[in-house]
Amino acid sequence: MMSDLSTMTNAARALIDPEAMVHNIQVMRRKAPHSKVMTVVKSDGYGHGLASVATTLAPFSDAFGVARVEEALTLRRAGIQLPIVLLEGFYEADELPLLVTHQLTATVHCKEQVAMLTRASLSEPLPVWLKVDSGMHRLGFQPEQVPEALAALNACDNVAADIGFLSHFGCADELDNPITQAQIDTFIQVTEGLSGERSLAASSGTLFWPQSHFDWVRPGICLYGISSRIELTGEQLGLKPAMRLTSRVMAVRELKAGEPVGYGARWRSSRDTLIGVIAIGYGDGYPRSAPDGTPVWLNGREVPLAGRVSMDMITVDLGPDATDKVGDEAVLWGPELPVERIARLVDTIGYELVCQVTGRVPRQYLPLNAADDAAV
Ligand SMILES: *Cc1c(COP(=O)(O)O)cnc(C)c1O
Repeated sequence: MMSDLSTMTNAARALIDPEAMVHNIQVMRRKAPHSKVMTVVKSDGYGHGLASVATTLAPFSDAFGVARVEEALTLRRAGIQLPIVLLEGFYEADELPLLVTHQLTATVHCKEQVAMLTRASLSEPLPVWLKVDSGMHRLGFQPEQVPEALAALNACDNVAADIGFLSHFGCADELDNPITQAQIDTFIQVTEGLSGERSLAASSGTLFWPQSHFDWVRPGICLYGISSRIELTGEQLGLKPAMRLTSRVMAVRELKAGEPVGYGARWRSSRDTLIGVIAIGYGDGYPRSAPDGTPVWLNGREVPLAGRVSMDMITVDLGPDATDKVGDEAVLWGPELPVERIARLVDTIGYELVCQVTGRVPRQYLPLNAADDAAV
């Protein structure tokens, strides 16, 4: 929450709209009406603020997915009681008692983890998802290794009954890539006749591959209103962007034709113009690689970035007749300006831009209108 002091400064801030997130999870639920939803909130809720995101989405979720134990503990401290799945499991045997204490669920993807479980002596058995490598070849047991790993886990007193089966797509955002159907086929083959629950789809699987929904879907990025396919915006998928990254104009300066602005004199004006200096930079997570022309939303229009992104500031070309003033609010991305557009210009994905908003940018939560989320 903002203090009065920071409200008065020109500091960048990320306004987070919980209603957008509630809308988005309902969109994802409707896409996979027969599946439970594991709400993925790793990396500080994709930069939106882990505890607040989880509190907002808990009533609409069946479980949470995180990447690190510390993230799971943050959720427990925030009072989250739903199952929490460590999508990459644990790294060292020392962590296992902590997992039991906090009733976390572990993914087991390699034989080293099986060995750690076998040697441990835990006060209660740990619920486990077994990760299958269905073709992405990053984590998980190869199909032919699954029976042996499963037998070892089934025989292990430290592992709870009803082991689930989880896998992850490498190319589900490419609608014509045959790898995805091959992964689905492999996953079905490997898990055929086994009793555990199954989960394969993240956001793209949930949206574009209904045959991958199984018992649990695991959406992440779409919950924040961002497209998992670079070609589309969240809005085009019926989603609402949850983050509006804003800052303020801190100076308006005259620049003569031919004069450069900023580090390296990368940009020069072709005409006499006005330059707006906005209080946000790569120290806040705005990408330094943004080229000249990258749009910034200001007073109802897009203005182009002019010159290199500094640590604490950017400069935009307001045009000679601009009436923008010091203190005016600029939007770097948000409902007015899809983060996917900025991502394409800097050769990355929306995921990275929202994750890399730094700790000095306060996340400010808009109030959730309780009347609207009753209609689930
Ligand atoms: C991050 C992650 C997800 C969510 O992916 P999105 O593309 O953000 O929906 C799901 N499953 C696993 C294993 C993940 O690591």
